[in-house]
Amino acid sequence: DRLIAPQAVAKDEHQDRAIRPQRLVDYVGQPAVREQMDIFVSAARAREEALDHVLIFGPPGLGKTTLANIIANEMGVAIKSTSGPVLEKAGDLAAILTNLEEGDVLFIDEIHRLNAVVEEILYPAMEDYQLDIMIGEGPAARSIKLDLPAFTLVGATTRAGLLTSPLRDRFGIVQRLEFYSVADLTHIVSRSAALLGLEIDTAGAGEIARRSRGTPRIANRLLRRVRDFAEVRYDGRIGQTVADEALNLLKVDQQGFDHMDRRLLLALVEKFDGGPVGVDSLAAAISEERGTIEDVLEPFLIQQGYMVRTSRGRMATTHAYLHFGLPVPGTAAA
Ligand code: ADP
Repeated sequence: DRLIAPQAVAKDEHQDRAIRPQRLVDYVGQPAVREQMDIFVSAARAREEALDHVLIFGPPGLGKTTLANIIANEMGVAIKSTSGPVLEKAGDLAAILTNLEEGDVLFIDEIHRLNAVVEEILYPAMEDYQLDIMIGEGPAARSIKLDLPAFTLVGATTRAGLLTSPLRDRFGIVQRLEFYSVADLTHIVSRSAALLGLEIDTAGAGEIARRSRGTPRIANRLLRRVRDFAEVRYDGRIGQTVADEALNLLKVDQQGFDHMDRRLLLALVEKFDGGPVGVDSLAAAISEERGTIEDVLEPFLIQQGYMVRTSRGRMATTHAYLHFGLPVPGTAAA
């Protein structure tokens, strides 16, 4: 129910097909990632080899799946997509691996959620393109080895720290996605609007961009909601005033925070006197899961300087107090 949740919902998937960039040149922002991938892809293509395995990490909605698909397009190969929690048994992964063609991309989203048995299968597959699997049980069990085509594993995860080190070490290319600047998000909103046939000016796109938590998926979702507002209340054109009114109505504030962000920051400030407080206590205080705080809520708040993560726990910064108009501890007003 969270409008600015960075995770995908079914409706996004459907509508995103038209606006998801297909080629590296359309991938807005992330200049270092783009430049490096361009070189690695060109080199692999020139050598007619499969691209080295790629690990992409970054908070939800920043373009990991998009980049995986772009890599396959740029390499001119097919992509098979799956995710860590879907691969329950060794056989699930074996079935996918044995169906790959030479050079194909295998994309595993949430790769940190692979279970240990499946992960073991992946090691020889990544290293030597070998499938090493036990079939049968008890005395009749035997191990079989199969050669696999040279393929590229693209793994995505929200945090690199969640991966086991043997898995992480098997990726030759590691890319970290950063939150997008307002300029890049303005570009993304304008591009999406053009593809959807909407009329929007730079100020309107900028207003949506500023309130999108540095995240393209949120920017595209807010654009669609602002479009509804513009069509019902106005003539469909989106300028700054329309965007601002719509976003205020949707309760997305000037910083792009919604009720969950505000609840987290307020708990930190009011219930824990600004911290430091452990993430588990914070999670209990706002009835959220620890993982949601770590993966979804706090990365942006930390990046924007509203809270910090210290060895003793999470702490609110001066920015957080000012955001709520509260007196900053240690100042004359407090
Ligand atoms: P993730 O896999 O990291 O959760 P996605 O790759 O699904 O994120 O991206 C979410 C949406 O945001 C995509 O459908 C795409 O339309 C848009 N998007 C992501 N990255 C970019 C980018 N660099 N340029 C333009 N649009 C992007």
